[in-house]
Amino acid sequence: MGNTSLTSEIREYARSCGADIFGVTSAEPFGNYLDTVAELERIGKFEGLPISNHINTSRADARNVLRSARSIIVVGVPYKLSVLRDDSGEHGGPHVFFGRYWLYARNARRVFGDLDQSIAGYMQKQGFEARAAGNRGIPLKPAAVRAGLANYGKNAIAYTKEFGSWIWWFGVITEADLEHSDASGEDICGKCDRCVKACPTGALYEAYKLDALRCRTYLTHPSMQDVGEIEDSLKERIGSCLCGCEICQDVCPLNREVKPIEVSAISDFSHYGVPLPDLEKLPLPDLLELLKGECSHYFQRYAAICIGNLKGADNALPLLTTMLNSEDELVRKYAGWAIDRIKRRKAHID
Ligand code: SF4
Ligand code: SF4
Repeated sequence: MGNTSLTSEIREYARSCGADIFGVTSAEPFGNYLDTVAELERIGKFEGLPISNHINTSRADARNVLRSARSIIVVGVPYKLSVLRDDSGEHGGPHVFFGRYWLYARNARRVFGDLDQSIAGYMQKQGFEARAAGNRGIPLKPAAVRAGLANYGKNAIAYTKEFGSWIWWFGVITEADLEHSDASGEDICGKCDRCVKACPTGALYEAYKLDALRCRTYLTHPSMQDVGEIEDSLKERIGSCLCGCEICQDVCPLNREVKPIEVSAISDFSHYGVPLPDLEKLPLPDLLELLKGECSHYFQRYAAICIGNLKGADNALPLLTTMLNSEDELVRKYAGWAIDRIKRRKAHID
């Protein structure tokens, strides 16, 4: 049954810290997470990849973080914003423009990073062992689903009723015996399969099943830069996506119903971060700036792929050619691929 009054008290505290969504699940292992990893392994999705850096199966059990764990507190902060006035200034060039994407994504940790720490601190003051646990500690989306806060869509993303999939999740593992809620198990998608059809890379290889190593969000993430060269057909499907991809969430009718949180100007709500720039519309001159060597190899790799996929990028050839001397092997390979592609396209047109 769990301690109901303590659970209510923590819920109130979490809300006062900015958590709009609150739930608790047991500290039992996440068997479904292990099943998913096992299936991906079985069908050969990890073959030849240094995937052990990314798949940490010990996170399936909260007791690996806190031996005495009995409950997992899951809190969520919605982030779909509508900003009426962008007063954050001009983007100031591609580095800043690009950096804003990560600023946005990481702002949650910067601003709400204290949220899980605060809740853990609150529990400790009550005399209970507690640890803040990010996604590396436990799988947060499965925790949110098991706590009855969300259900999976066919794009393998957790959806809440009120805020759709636009949620930052945080977790706290504690030894306190709190009141656990049940997963709803609701089929939220019905016959819809828009996300599966819209995915440009086929990363959603079946409904509810994601091959992260074909997903543009994962592939272009800074933490995934050791997965090696991606195959040519996948490079083409990266299109002009420099980083991140939200197509499967954008096309989702469940997300269309979500009312954005209105902020009058960025400076009014700076703790939410700046709006996500549309990186797919980054113009060629800005992409070229990313190739000039001041930015990390990681930026250069995907900038080269994007340029290779752009029509009319002939003026990028000299710069791409200099990149064939890059000290980074993947920058060299991707620049070579882009050069070939531009030349083949040109030969075809000429
Ligand atoms: S984020 Fe993009 S690439 Fe990844 S599954 Fe969704 S649509 Fe596909
Ligand atoms: S697009 Fe359709 S199938 Fe995909 S998550 Fe949304 S409702 Fe479900």
